Amino acid sequence: MKELLETVVKDCGYTWRQGQVATYIPELAKARADATGIAVCDLSSGLSGAGDTDFAFTMQSVSKVVSLALALSECGEEKVFSAVGMDPLADPFNSIMRLEMDAPHRPHNPLINSGAIVVLSLLPWKESSQRIAAVSAMAARMTGRKAVAVNEAVYLSEKGTSDRNRALAWFLKSVGNLEGDIEDILDAYFRQCSLEVTCEDLAVLGATLAADGTNPVTGERVVSPEVARVVRTIMATCGMYDGSGEFAVSVGIPAKSGVGGGIAAAVPGRMGIGTCGPALDRKGNSVAGLAMLKRLSEELKLRIY
Ligand code: GLN
Repeated sequence: MKELLETVVKDCGYTWRQGQVATYIPELAKARADATGIAVCDLSSGLSGAGDTDFAFTMQSVSKVVSLALALSECGEEKVFSAVGMDPLADPFNSIMRLEMDAPHRPHNPLINSGAIVVLSLLPWKESSQRIAAVSAMAARMTGRKAVAVNEAVYLSEKGTSDRNRALAWFLKSVGNLEGDIEDILDAYFRQCSLEVTCEDLAVLGATLAADGTNPVTGERVVSPEVARVVRTIMATCGMYDGSGEFAVSVGIPAKSGVGGGIAAAVPGRMGIGTCGPALDRKGNSVAGLAMLKRLSEELKLRIY
């Protein structure tokens, strides 16, 4: 496996040149654009990786998988999916247009920004500090790490440039679809996006979902098989935003991307895959990550469709 991953990095790494690091969160613009890493956590043979497996980056939208798993476990499917939909959207992840146009003005799915903000508001903790503690504890259980910490510089940078996310949240409040202390919920959102990981962490996170909710490294049951199934399904339909359909055809694996350059993928019953590559395409998905996942999916026949 290690040899294959090294070939994948060698053959696909150069694609970073076709992308650009996110700049709308100033701190993310400082990332090394050419960092490229991939890790696989195979359910029978364990972890292997190649390239920049030590490169640390913030989870950004990959964290939405963690908060969704937590909300489903704490509140149940019915409550979560009465507050957010479960359909893909052909608009960018932070678009406000459909939220306003489509009654009942509910986020279309939990993996776009508005949906993730609503998911956080459902968690049964009142304060931002308690919510983020619960999300980061869930991230630690899914990745098999002792702790997953917030990168303070990225958090402050996102918080300082958060007009769009604030607009989404306050709009939702104005139509009665977001309850609680809005600024406090937003604070937890900015912190969860700033949780810092490596591609190895994302491989284990993906493997936990691939193994129906049991972390294959620690052996801990983190979420129920039903929650893992629902999360994988939402990843498959909505995980790459408005690039989800194309990704389903070309790669064919449930996956979730983030503008920090990470992608976590879960191949049911087989493996989790984590990639990093901060240079993004126009939809906010890692260019090198997409190329590496496509190649690996072809080599190992991973498509689930
Ligand atoms: N923190 C980012 C934002 O809110 C997350 C978006 C993403 O990773 N696509 O804009």
